[in-house]
Amino acid sequence: MASKKYVYFFGEGSKEMKKLLGGKGANLSEMTNIGLPVPPGFTITTEVCNLFYELGEKYPEGLNEQIDENLKKLEVEMGMTFGDKENPLLVSVRSGAAISMPGMMDTVLNLGLNDTTIDSLIKKTGNKRFSWDSYRRFIQMFGDVVMEVERDKFEEALQAIKSKNKVKLDTELSADNLKELVSEYKKIIKKEKGISFPQDPKEQLKMSIDAVFGSWNNKRAITYRNLHDIPHNIGTAVNVQVMVFGNMGNNSGTGVAFTRDPATGENVEYGEYLINAQGEDVVAGIRTPKPISNLKKEMPGIFNQLIDIFKKLEQHYTDTQDLEFTIQEGKLYMLQTRTGKRTAGAALKIAVDMVNEGLIDKKTAVLRVEPEQLDQLLHKQLDEKSKANAELVAKGLPASPGAALGRVVFDADDAVKESKNREVILVRTETSPEDIEGMAVAQGILTARGGMTSHAAVVARGMGKCCVAGCEDIKVFEEEQYFTASGKKVKKGDWVTLDGSTGEVFLGRIPVVDPEVTGDFEIFMDWVNEFKTIGVRANADTPKDSEIALKFRAEGIGLCRTEHMFFESDRIKAVRKMIVASNEKERRKALMALLPIQKNDFIEIFKVMKGLPVTIRLLDPPLHEFLPTEDEDIKEIAKELGLEFRELKATIVSLHEMNPMLGHRGCRLSVTYPEILEMQTKAIFEAAIELTKQGYEVKPEVMIPLVGSVKEMRILKKQIIKIADELIKKSNVRFDYKVGTMIEIPRACITADEIATEAEFFSFGTNDLTQLTFGFSRDDSGKFLPDYIEKGILDKDPFATLDEKGVGQFVKIGVEKGRKARKDIKIGICGEHGGDPDSIKFCHKIGMDYVSCSPFRVPIARLAAAQAALEEI
Ligand code: PEP
Ligand code: MG
Repeated sequence: MASKKYVYFFGEGSKEMKKLLGGKGANLSEMTNIGLPVPPGFTITTEVCNLFYELGEKYPEGLNEQIDENLKKLEVEMGMTFGDKENPLLVSVRSGAAISMPGMMDTVLNLGLNDTTIDSLIKKTGNKRFSWDSYRRFIQMFGDVVMEVERDKFEEALQAIKSKNKVKLDTELSADNLKELVSEYKKIIKKEKGISFPQDPKEQLKMSIDAVFGSWNNKRAITYRNLHDIPHNIGTAVNVQVMVFGNMGNNSGTGVAFTRDPATGENVEYGEYLINAQGEDVVAGIRTPKPISNLKKEMPGIFNQLIDIFKKLEQHYTDTQDLEFTIQEGKLYMLQTRTGKRTAGAALKIAVDMVNEGLIDKKTAVLRVEPEQLDQLLHKQLDEKSKANAELVAKGLPASPGAALGRVVFDADDAVKESKNREVILVRTETSPEDIEGMAVAQGILTARGGMTSHAAVVARGMGKCCVAGCEDIKVFEEEQYFTASGKKVKKGDWVTLDGSTGEVFLGRIPVVDPEVTGDFEIFMDWVNEFKTIGVRANADTPKDSEIALKFRAEGIGLCRTEHMFFESDRIKAVRKMIVASNEKERRKALMALLPIQKNDFIEIFKVMKGLPVTIRLLDPPLHEFLPTEDEDIKEIAKELGLEFRELKATIVSLHEMNPMLGHRGCRLSVTYPEILEMQTKAIFEAAIELTKQGYEVKPEVMIPLVGSVKEMRILKKQIIKIADELIKKSNVRFDYKVGTMIEIPRACITADEIATEAEFFSFGTNDLTQLTFGFSRDDSGKFLPDYIEKGILDKDPFATLDEKGVGQFVKIGVEKGRKARKDIKIGICGEHGGDPDSIKFCHKIGMDYVSCSPFRVPIARLAAAQAALEEI
């Protein structure tokens, strides 16, 4: 029986086959098919990688034969042979998963060189120096990634030869120096591993393929996948491709480019290149490359050909591409193309521009921007005024936008440690994939070397994290833990501020301000609104929050937590008086003092919201939360309230609860102390009446928290309506209002049909509902949830993304039962999940009317809602 097809020659696959061929392999096939100059090669599928692990690091039957067949085909096509004395075939071996994982897995270049083929390479190229340099690079890479010899050993040997010959740069080494280095490298391998560097190219190839498949499960690749939510079972493909050399002299070079600017989205060529260099030199950030626009002067023919290819690729893929190319002795070759990663600002601009250019439709544009990515756009920026007076000490490349401030650390482990207690900025000469965990926890990243496409820049942009790269104004002393800039010494623990949008580095702390969003953002968000069917409201407790919510076009307030107003300094005293009151009369007196303050809060919020619905929740937390716990504070407050210390302490002790989250809170407070509900209802309706009289439109929705029984709802609703209707009648005005409830107790979901006979709206409080469904304390889950995720018991934090299987089923039942009992019931969600794209998609699917989230997440929620609607079509 013929074995399954495990190997595809370039051209046999297509861009649709990413899952099987990996992104790189699929696109190399596609570029070959559309006639672009791609050096030939073949791809070993991701399926082989998965089988390799399933079979205990063994390959499936028939694979070796297929590799041999394709190698033969390559040899015939090139007229070259592996290990041939006259015309040796040289190849690269690279990884390539379906989802790009830059720099995380292994690569081997110049494979096929050995002590014999080196002579033919010299003869063929007439370039001794180039040939020996290629050989020593190959041994170095092979030694490092395939044979796992410590990288530093090769670096030391290179430094030693440079010192011996009194040169500074690698490029100053002569052919003989490099030849000597080759023999040093071979000795290192023999010494470290006890075996010789393999001379047989087939053996080299086999070992390299093993290493690339093996690198799928190296530590940094696993960390990267965990950080980016990439499944561990998709595997990588391996691409074997004929080598082209960018280091054959000054008519050769290598570069990376984007078809549009990935930072701003502008439709201009963008990228960088190095003359006389190999691909890895650009990405590794070892030499600082030149901007691609410079190529126009240096190699006009190649530049024009590249621009044509940009256009062709964009038309073909209808998206911005990120590509790698090599120029070998004046001839251009394409080595990779993939969808270009971009900042949120660029993503919006590109989406809007491409619709205007007729390349894509609005629907595609809306589906193309990641909702979470918008967060970057809404990131804080440095306050311009303070920035003008701040101490600017260096300027690098604006690699990833936003502002970041923190204390300086110089290695990734330190960043992980220190970030537990403080904000840190990771400063490195250059970053490497091993730094990934440190980068993830840092506020921002600063590197002295590397370009816009260096590791630091690419990874930071992917993380939406502020990054200044290639900042050659600073000198980093990693061992000694300090850097110098403008004659200043900045030590570990000192504060610095970065502006990732300009590349500026400041000493000290600069205040940050909220971002302004205009232009493309508005156009794009208009399209979003055309498609979304579910409403988006905001959780806002103050007029300021409400203003932000409205600016982001929230369609109302879905949750105003009135207790947040109680904590402000001008009212906490009255709140405490109310709590410590020993009888109803005293409590009412204290509440009377709170009434005008609370009324004023509602007046301001109603005014801002201009007639949009405002859902106001009655007091929810247990009362002891408003009282101090430390004796020192109790003494102070007792004095303030005119009480004895012992008296106040006794009250506090009496309010203590074993499980406050399950205790005297939510609607239970109103059941015990109806006067609290009375005061809050009065404040809401007096405010609404006053504004209505002044000509404002108001839509109050009074929400009762933590209901578990229809009877709670019935009793409390009756009290609210009585007060509200009396006030409205007396003042002779008209406006509609609603009384509804939060659904945040499992019993409320199960009896939602009963509750809906009283409630005019439901708002799912999925924070409490998650807590009560799992039995996980909201406040303590941080202690064990990370272990649950690491051990695979849970995929995600259920307090961040709604657990569809469990909590989601309660929500679904609640929605269905609620609607059955009251057809026009309004249903929304106001737990944290209301701002999470996946959870929003679920809410859309089960037919909610709206989601409500924090003001800054409103645009994210709107986009997720639109995508949910579009994905259904
Ligand atoms: C909830 O429980 O989901 C909710 C929104 O209320 P809180 O977080 O205030 O308990
Ligand atoms: Mg709650």
